Amino acid sequence: MPPIIGIDLGTTNSLCAIFQDGTPQLIPNAFGENLTPSIVCVTEEGALLVGAAARELRVTQPDRCAACFKRFMGSHEQLSLAGKQYTPVELSSLVLKSLRDDACHHLGTDVTEAVITVPAYFNDNQRQATKQAGELAGLRVKRIVNEPTAAALTYGFHDRDSEKKILVIDLGGGTFDVTYMDVFEGTLEIVSTAGESFLGGEDFTDRLLASLLQKQGRQLETAELQEPHRVARLRQQCEMAKRQLTKLEAVKIKLPDAAGHIADDSLTVNVTRTAYAKLVEPLIERLKQPVAKALRDGRASPDNIDDVILVGGATRMPAVQEFVRRYFSKEPLCRFNPDEVVALGAAVQAALIADDQAVDDLVMTDVCPHTLGVETVKEFANEVKPGYFTPIIHRNTTIPVSREELFRTVAPNQREVHVVVYQGEHRRVEQNLKIGELKVTGIPPGPAGKEFYIRFTYDLNGILEVEAYVLASPKKYRTVLTHNARGLSQAELDEAIQKLQSLKYYPREDLENQRLLRYCERLVGEISPFQRPQLESAIDHFESAMSSGDKESVQVAQTTLLQTLSMLGYDFRGRGE
Ligand code: ADP
Ligand code: MG
Repeated sequence: MPPIIGIDLGTTNSLCAIFQDGTPQLIPNAFGENLTPSIVCVTEEGALLVGAAARELRVTQPDRCAACFKRFMGSHEQLSLAGKQYTPVELSSLVLKSLRDDACHHLGTDVTEAVITVPAYFNDNQRQATKQAGELAGLRVKRIVNEPTAAALTYGFHDRDSEKKILVIDLGGGTFDVTYMDVFEGTLEIVSTAGESFLGGEDFTDRLLASLLQKQGRQLETAELQEPHRVARLRQQCEMAKRQLTKLEAVKIKLPDAAGHIADDSLTVNVTRTAYAKLVEPLIERLKQPVAKALRDGRASPDNIDDVILVGGATRMPAVQEFVRRYFSKEPLCRFNPDEVVALGAAVQAALIADDQAVDDLVMTDVCPHTLGVETVKEFANEVKPGYFTPIIHRNTTIPVSREELFRTVAPNQREVHVVVYQGEHRRVEQNLKIGELKVTGIPPGPAGKEFYIRFTYDLNGILEVEAYVLASPKKYRTVLTHNARGLSQAELDEAIQKLQSLKYYPREDLENQRLLRYCERLVGEISPFQRPQLESAIDHFESAMSSGDKESVQVAQTTLLQTLSMLGYDFRGRGE
């Protein structure tokens, strides 16, 4: 049987895992690391870099790099990268392709099937976009799984015999998800889920960044346009400071100049953990509502919860852990690495799909995260008002699910009905997300009030099928919303594949060298002017060896460059973020 890999396609980092020898295992990338930054960059030579090498370039050449594109999945937003426009689907597919290549290399076999995770709060469009990104990367997407569900699967897999009520809190780079579930005798029942798709670790970094800029009399949005290099470098400094504040009581942040350079005598700002906690209080405050909503929907209260599981890199922040402690009067659990637990769970899900013996006593049920329904009219004292939302499947209903509702025509001799499907929690459709439509014709003439049924069937991937039929007519109308206009047509898919193929890929063996080169290029702007010629000459030597393509001279030049770096006091292999 061909392997099915599990992929956590994150806003900040992506990972890939496989279920092997009875347990989920992470697959390292070309650098031997488990985390691949979800960053894509096109170099001046028109070549493509994904991951850590692209992250190096993001600091010096922000306009050649795209990051955080997961935030725009399912929207019509395009991101500009080295002068060309790319959709979030295309950019995500490049990350997926890189993970797939790593998996093929690691497993020594072709990989064509995957389970991909998405935030529970992703809507139908965003899920569909994720599936398309998989297709573009040459992967058949066997299942889309909610990230917190995947995290829960990792815990459930390793702790099958317990009976517990668990809350999973997942704060990643860009999204926040809360999932409440019940575990008993190997059965994981997801009871409710809630979240916010625009709240994550990046917002914490940006808050610090905005406050530093504000002290200099600048607004983040305008500074980003006017001085992209300064902002990119300062953002990197803030990201580092934020992480250090997880361990340290205070940190110093060096302020870069307009070109994004930092020197020994650059101005520094001191930030204490207390000051940072105060700064991010409004963000911490925003964690409360989804937590309360998930508990309310699951008819639970904070003291019903046995374990609170933390997932996502941003839950490492003391302020977040402190919030959990206060809210639940309980110490949160982080038995597994919060960055890795989702990918491992995706691999467990893949094992469930493949009927792997090691999981035959594990059962999982999930819920649909949003309410699904149709647009209807309401009658108020002789006045008929359109635009109301009538739910058919309520949020947090266990899936798969199929529900039918009876509706009536509103006008005499009404021969057809236009069924418009929405997803969301608002009373009025205009505030919800339209996800498809269906036309029912052939209603027999007669007075208003002719009955017809609408049936919604929601599958395990979060994909909706809509059926409608009129009682008096044998004809059924049916649509699977994913095959509706929102999907890419084959022609569009082919076009996207061609566009991506025009990018030049570095051979796998070259990636480490590319990363080293980008790292050194960034250092040139940072080290003291006295050291610069020495570093530049080592880089030139290395670059020319690389373009010669001669393996041996690349090796020699690489050793010289690494020695030069360590003489100047920098450690490429042991570098921090
Ligand atoms: P995603 O799933 O969205 O890709 P991750 O789970 O990888 O996100 O988490 C990434 C976020 O976690 C980033 O915003 C990063 O800054 C934050 N993060 C990682 N490590 C730490 C740390 N030690 N302290 C604070 N934040 C951290
Ligand atoms: Mg994540």
